[in-house]
Amino acid sequence: MSEMVSFENRRNFLKLSAGLGPALMCAAPLSRALAAGAIKPGADAVLIVVDVQNCFLPTGTLPVKKGDEVVPVINELAKKFQNVVITQDWHTPGHSSFASSHDGKAPFETVELDYGTQVLWPDHCVQGTDDAKLAPGLDLPHAQLIIRKGYNSAVDSYSAFQEADKETGTGLTGYLTERGINEVYVCGLATDFCVAWSALDARAKGMTVSVIEDASRAIDLNGSLDAAWSSMTDAGIERIQSSDFA
Ligand SMILES: [Zn+2]
Repeated sequence: MSEMVSFENRRNFLKLSAGLGPALMCAAPLSRALAAGAIKPGADAVLIVVDVQNCFLPTGTLPVKKGDEVVPVINELAKKFQNVVITQDWHTPGHSSFASSHDGKAPFETVELDYGTQVLWPDHCVQGTDDAKLAPGLDLPHAQLIIRKGYNSAVDSYSAFQEADKETGTGLTGYLTERGINEVYVCGLATDFCVAWSALDARAKGMTVSVIEDASRAIDLNGSLDAAWSSMTDAGIERIQSSDFA
């Protein structure tokens, strides 16, 4: 249930955001819908490739079912983008998001931390380990930035933009804004956690956001995938496929 509560909170937050800037929040998705089938990313667009790392592949410590299937899709997709940013889950040993850090807790149970309910995971993506390396088949030589996240031992960070305390930024908003990039395409692992949270945060920053479904795979824990798509749709995030690109 915790992730459902979490998404509900985010939805409320986005409704508040929408109230502050209705024109901005509503106009952008309409123009994107018209472009479906022939999307040609320009200089103001970025592909954010989320957490395509060994840990989230089927042989990793926190396997996402069929997670390896996104690699060739993303490799082809990225060729259509001038701007590519990669994120990398990058935890300290004994990170607070690990079940092993909490007595009596098992992976996929929850715990209350200072910033709210945290889903507990198997130990994964520990800094400097092979498990945390980017997937070996990932071929993105023109990627310009790797954002590492989840490196504060007491705070998780699903989102590429801000940590789970919903206050601490990763710096990505500033990077994109300074470069005049406001059209964001998100893909990777996993659809219902790090991809969704990144997309929702980009949208909350007023960016035009699409999630590329076939370039992503989900964990789907207790209905989390449906909840994620519902939240993203409500926020005005486009659900597209890699075939929608020219
Ligand atoms: Zn993690």
